[in-house]
Amino acid sequence: MQNTDYKRILVTAALPYANGPLHIGHLAGAYLPSDLYCRYQRLQGRDIVFICGSDELGVAIMVRARSEGITPQELVDRYHPQIEAAFSGFGMSFDFYGRTTTDVHRETSQSFFNKLAEKDVFVLKTEAQLFDPEAGIFLADRFVIGTCPVCGYEDAYGDQCEKCGTSLSPLELVNPKSTLTDATPELRETTHWYLPLGDFQDRLSSWIDAHPEWKSNVLGQVRSWLKDGLRDRAITRDVPWGVPVPDEASSKAGVDATGKVIYVWFDAPIGYISATREWAIKKGDPELWKKYWKDPDTKLIHCIGKDNIVFHCLMFPAMLMAHGDFVLPENVPANEFLNIEGQKLSTSRGWAVWLHEYLEEFPPDLLRYALATMLPEARDGDFSWTEFQNRVNSELADVLGNFVNRTMTFAWKNFDGHVPELVAPSRDDQAVLDELAAFPGRIGSAYESFRNRDAVFDTMALARLGNKYFNDTEPWHTRKTDLQKCGNTIHVCLQLCASLSVLMDPVLPFSATTLRKMLNLWGVKSSRPDEQSEGSIGWEHAGSSLLDASHMLGRPEILFKKVEDEAIQMQIEKLQSAGGDKSQESSTSFVPIGSEIVYDDFAKLDLRMGTVVSAEKIPRSKKLLQLEVNLGFESRQILAGAAEHFEPAELVGRKVVIVANLAPRKMMGLESQGMVLMAEDRDGKLTLLSADGEDGAVVR
Ligand SMILES: [Zn+2]
Repeated sequence: MQNTDYKRILVTAALPYANGPLHIGHLAGAYLPSDLYCRYQRLQGRDIVFICGSDELGVAIMVRARSEGITPQELVDRYHPQIEAAFSGFGMSFDFYGRTTTDVHRETSQSFFNKLAEKDVFVLKTEAQLFDPEAGIFLADRFVIGTCPVCGYEDAYGDQCEKCGTSLSPLELVNPKSTLTDATPELRETTHWYLPLGDFQDRLSSWIDAHPEWKSNVLGQVRSWLKDGLRDRAITRDVPWGVPVPDEASSKAGVDATGKVIYVWFDAPIGYISATREWAIKKGDPELWKKYWKDPDTKLIHCIGKDNIVFHCLMFPAMLMAHGDFVLPENVPANEFLNIEGQKLSTSRGWAVWLHEYLEEFPPDLLRYALATMLPEARDGDFSWTEFQNRVNSELADVLGNFVNRTMTFAWKNFDGHVPELVAPSRDDQAVLDELAAFPGRIGSAYESFRNRDAVFDTMALARLGNKYFNDTEPWHTRKTDLQKCGNTIHVCLQLCASLSVLMDPVLPFSATTLRKMLNLWGVKSSRPDEQSEGSIGWEHAGSSLLDASHMLGRPEILFKKVEDEAIQMQIEKLQSAGGDKSQESSTSFVPIGSEIVYDDFAKLDLRMGTVVSAEKIPRSKKLLQLEVNLGFESRQILAGAAEHFEPAELVGRKVVIVANLAPRKMMGLESQGMVLMAEDRDGKLTLLSADGEDGAVVR
């Protein structure tokens, strides 16, 4: 739901855990969507602050540091800059990227904790827990191993047996041992603070009920938690790495808090507040953060992946309600998970695309765009390298890049690099300008409602409109017969390019800047913070003509280079050699269902029966076969990626179903005039789709 009544917007993106590099799943879950949203809002001229930072506390970081023989601080000092560099490489336009090991974070978390303690929100519980007498500390569940009481596995962890998957508590382990010292732990009593979430159940329920516009995947998960009933949750632990429980709260409770820290699930979301404070300090106005967190005219948006829904939709809101001074989130548009090549992403198996490695091979905009078309908005999505290549080559290069390039080249060849005047526009010229006027509103409302895939689809639709208009008005023809008519076409096309340079900016910020340079178009608002130029051209102007007649253009450049088959093959091989165990995984995981389409989308496909009349291998290509397919009324040359699955001879004479209206495509120097449909099973094996119809029969 669109609410433009707010005076300002605060967007937070989930704090990545600083115990490893970032991968493509991170980008698809929280970061690309939030960046698209923020860049769009800045182009709208809205007052917006975009906050993120590294989550550097917690037991997992201790465990990882221990296994490497370094301190937790050394570990996070290694990953924090790496993560920040990857984000910056992808153009994540944070106003501030913080970290949770700073003094400001410690102070903010402790004062939050104290405030809740003062208001008697917490309950205290004393329980027996395992204590390592040699190390002198209580053992968090990951620091205890022992024999699983269910399956007898000897190295089960205190929270879970990795052999049989059973959830455990450390006290259930047989023969428990401390992983720190190998000592046999003793049972000792320890006291902890708990947040009684049940006390907030009613308030949370009515707050959630007031947001029917939230995404259904989010509401579904939240309602199921509420239905189960919310329970007390510990917010302190006995571990040596974290924000210490503050003295005020511990003396108020009469509990010795030595060695106790605030549980990371409690302090991590407070990291959004502390990072906003640090941003304000950096801006030279230390109180500025309060406006964004305390003034009810702020629209607070949390962008997260689905594993974080319960923390951002129930626990953190309960904390904010308990505190009382802060605004509650207006929306929490969580994304589902991203699979890779049909398999679940797994960092431990190496089945991941690492962002720092991607950036060594390709420009950031290519992945930003391709990934935006595959975002797991409503259900788990799938990233594949061939789909990446397809999006880059057939959309960015062939549609958007081609439109810009032919327009620019034409303007330089025939109009000396000036924008020709529009004189007595034809009905076609006017129709395109009228259509253009509707695009900012349409794309904008998709961004407003977190439908990023739709927004990006509509952006590309504008480039398609440009290409169609260019083809229909045939400037290469009118150039010789009616120069003014030709000038009108190029005038309109240049206006579309200028509008595109604004409207594509959220998803393709680097290329948008290049395009504006090519157009010599200045004065557009910046979609980045700290570059708030005096730009007066914003999103709302992008539906009208931005270039004056006789405006001098800059020099054309190629916006998008195509990605070669070899580059894609290398990425796929790299992924597979990194340890992805396809034979094991593929027997269980199906490719997820694609995003929903309407009948009209389907009806655009012209599917026909045909017969393969000849088939041969293509020299130098491992995958492609060159087929000739008879459609009854004509014959087509089609290249099919089936050479690893079929001998050419076994295809001859076979009935096939082809996509007959697919735009021709060149591969290995040969044109492919359509596509043969095949089924791919979970092992990647291909079989032909076939039926008995006569050649040329329509398949519906
Ligand atoms: Zn077990």
